[in-house]
Amino acid sequence: MTTKKDKPQSLGHIIKNNWFLFRIAVRVTPALILLPVLKNIIFSIFSFLTGTYLLRCVINGFQDGKSFSEMIVPVICVCGAYFLCSLLSSAYDAFLEPVQKLKLSEHLKKMIFAKNESVELGCYEDKGFYDKYVKAANNIENRIWGVVNTVYNCLWIIMSFSLNTVFIIIIDPWLIVFAAIPVIAKFTLGEKRNKIQHEYDMKRQEEERQRDYTRRTFYLNDFAKEMRLTNIYKVMFARFNRSVKNIIAYIKEYGFKLGAVDYITEELYEVGAIMGAQLYSVYRTLVSGTMKYGDCLFIITAISEVSNTLMNGAQSFFAFHENSLYIDTIREYLEYEPKIKDGEFPAPKSGDIKLENVCFRYAGQNADVLKNVNIEIHNGEKIALVGHNGAGKTTLVKLLLRLYDPTAGTISFADRDIRDYKLTGEEGYRERFGTVFQDFRLFSMSVADNVLLRRRRNGDEAVVERALKNSGAYDKVMTFENGMDTVLTREFDDKGEVLSGGEGQKVAISRVFVKESSVVILDEPSSALDPVAEYKMYENMMNACENRSVIFISHRLSSAVLADRIYLLENGEVIEEGSHHDLMQKCGKYAEMFTLQARNYVADGEEVRA
Ligand code: ADP
Repeated sequence: MTTKKDKPQSLGHIIKNNWFLFRIAVRVTPALILLPVLKNIIFSIFSFLTGTYLLRCVINGFQDGKSFSEMIVPVICVCGAYFLCSLLSSAYDAFLEPVQKLKLSEHLKKMIFAKNESVELGCYEDKGFYDKYVKAANNIENRIWGVVNTVYNCLWIIMSFSLNTVFIIIIDPWLIVFAAIPVIAKFTLGEKRNKIQHEYDMKRQEEERQRDYTRRTFYLNDFAKEMRLTNIYKVMFARFNRSVKNIIAYIKEYGFKLGAVDYITEELYEVGAIMGAQLYSVYRTLVSGTMKYGDCLFIITAISEVSNTLMNGAQSFFAFHENSLYIDTIREYLEYEPKIKDGEFPAPKSGDIKLENVCFRYAGQNADVLKNVNIEIHNGEKIALVGHNGAGKTTLVKLLLRLYDPTAGTISFADRDIRDYKLTGEEGYRERFGTVFQDFRLFSMSVADNVLLRRRRNGDEAVVERALKNSGAYDKVMTFENGMDTVLTREFDDKGEVLSGGEGQKVAISRVFVKESSVVILDEPSSALDPVAEYKMYENMMNACENRSVIFISHRLSSAVLADRIYLLENGEVIEEGSHHDLMQKCGKYAEMFTLQARNYVADGEEVRA
């Protein structure tokens, strides 16, 4: 993804970007956006009437000899209408606005989550993309309010500016010159200020992301053991300190620049605009006698109002510009086209899987991790993928699941390229697979929910029970007070249970017994089980999955014995294939590895089945 950060932004681009978020806000919560529009128009008129105009009329009226009763009626009418509108506005602020705001905020979060779910796995390994995700998630809510508030502000400005300016011009057109001074300065320096602010925010967020990561490593369970048993915490401490130091350096560097720009514009506004115009009006009223008292008072207030609104107008323009800089990142993220595209065909319930000359290379790497892989898995076959670490087994599984697409070659399911199938949903290709990875996650939910991984339906209790029995987790779960309704982890429930590595793996493996998929993939989720338990689990799996294809990766070749066919991978290539019997007879690499492992088990006094 390329960055547009350094390109100057055209007016059209700024409008487009702001419109992009404003449109979302109007679509999701029309009441939240349109009622305040009305409110701003009405209150800007009231502000003009009560702030400057009524007083001018009253003073000029008395100077012209009008009576008190003549002057009081319009004042009472305006004040009455103002109180009524204020009441309605307070009711809106108290009841409608908080609910609508929450609705919009929730919608935005869901938008980001949905996008995140739709992108391919490779995005998580792309630092640039991940940065964009964090920035989009951090900024979208603030920015949408930024846009909406700037629009409200603009409406107020237009109304207030037009009303005050018309009357100032009627009284003395020269006065407008005073108001223009700070605005010109604002326009000249404003864009520069925005660039500085944006650069500052981006650098700071980047650093904060680093700092937050190190902070997480101190409190997350995932890192707790390594942090205690190794010296990594010192490295993390140093990283944390470095991030904080860098943030302080940014505050110093950018704070000075921003402060200097703000100082110059503020002084021009105070001295140039307000005082200049006020002294000029007082001179005309008291020295040359060419201005009425009411007009003078009106000018003194209105000129600061016009100057304020012009300043705010310039501010609003730059607020739109500033929003736009952030919206670029948000749009780049939301408009990112996932590389793994949906196909149009519904995936058949089952079928043969065929890999033909499949090659794959991870983005940014300079060598293929899979080279011309040819594998055929007939429906219902049990396949073992074996090989040393880094041989490419997990990558192959990820390709099968379309978490990545091959760089060359094809993978077909039921005689059709898997790219042609719908990816998700009932008819989706991925729905045909039940998968457990080595780095599976258990959620802070009940055992049953952890197994089902979907909403519960009637009769699920029996389904979960059977799955837990098949994986070997049932007996352990039944020792818990709440059985399969026991919450895993104690994070949200004092009665929750923490499972050992092996017990957790069994629960995770239960998932594939629940899902009615035609293919089961197990990517070494059994590494924490002892060899006997692992063998038993696979044996159960083969029995329970009689009509389903099973593809499993295991480092323990004693389990590979159960497979109809074994593929031995080395450096991304299939170097041997066949049944256990065939491969043992061949006396090749597999036979060598098997004999070595068997010897170790016998030496350890463990049971080996071959
Ligand atoms: P195995 O499952 O056989 O242990 P993998 O498929 O996990 O092997 O890895 C195969 C090779 O691909 C290894 O050299 C590994 O370092 C590399 N690899 C795995 N995942 C990535 C990734 N996301 N980005 C870059 N290289 C990767």
